Amino acid sequence: MVEQDVTLNALFEAGIWIETGTPGVYGKSAMFEAIIDGLEALVTEAETGAERVRFPPALAESTFIQSGYYKNFPHLAAHVHAFCGCEKTHASLVQSKDPLDQWRDNLAATDIVLTPAACYPLYPLAARRGPLPADGWLFDVQSYCFRREPSDSPDRLQMFRMREYVRIGSPQQVADFRNAWLERSKDMMSTLGLDYHLDVANDPFFGRAGRLMATSQREQALKFEMLLPVIDAERRTACLSFNYHQDHFGTTFDIRPADGSVAHTGCVGFGLERLTLALLRRHGLAPQTWSADLKRALQL
Ligand code: ATP
Ligand code: ZN
Repeated sequence: MVEQDVTLNALFEAGIWIETGTPGVYGKSAMFEAIIDGLEALVTEAETGAERVRFPPALAESTFIQSGYYKNFPHLAAHVHAFCGCEKTHASLVQSKDPLDQWRDNLAATDIVLTPAACYPLYPLAARRGPLPADGWLFDVQSYCFRREPSDSPDRLQMFRMREYVRIGSPQQVADFRNAWLERSKDMMSTLGLDYHLDVANDPFFGRAGRLMATSQREQALKFEMLLPVIDAERRTACLSFNYHQDHFGTTFDIRPADGSVAHTGCVGFGLERLTLALLRRHGLAPQTWSADLKRALQL
């Protein structure tokens, strides 16, 4: 089967994505959103007993700093700024012919940072609940996420949606969760008619120290990715991630069972735009022409 090119221009011309004037931030058509809804329904069906929680795509600055994101990924973060000038400055900026830089000069950081991964707002919530029960916790989250990685490649967005299941428990509970999802997601890709590769991966840690962290993450197989053809069959794109954080978030946010040990955490994350693009590439830009089985699976 000939695969469809999913370039930015093809998406704009077909009205599937809508330009906004900045790379990696796009509007989406009803059809694109219907596919995302279908994917989310499939993901929901595949897990039982998860507690569904939704947060706006922003974190308290204190949570963000506590999480270690600035330490590990400062290049991807986006701190919200707001106008801090006086009335006189405001009046002169409103009159100004070329006010962009001057507006920028009068912005100051607020106590809000954009969410970089859907699971971040969960950890303070889990910590506040007190001792971790013997069964641990399983959460279902979804959020628009922001990462400062402007690009003209449709698979690298600045604002995108991540659906996640997050397991908090003993090392064994987290390992069982991750192994179950590694298997389940293979079935899911078969249902979707998508050709996948699973591979170990690393997060894009910042700087020279970051390269060492990335190597260690790979050596310990803490992160797996499910790679699918999205833009290029040779250079596949990570559409699902399976992460084992060990005790990072448990220690950082002080999440503990009653025996005082530290909780371990792991998550499986679905990149909803990337998965949808993989479907459009594989099956064509017109979902009405997709097979009856696929349409049924996605409730289209
Ligand atoms: P990559 O290696 O491609 O930068 P990542 O390893 O940083 O991705 P994760 O941090 O594991 O990605 O994020 C979870 C999921 O979110 C990824 O599997 C992917 O599907 C999606 N995702 C991550 N970054 C982007 C992006 N810039 N645009 C669209 N989806 C993304
Ligand atoms: Zn996560």
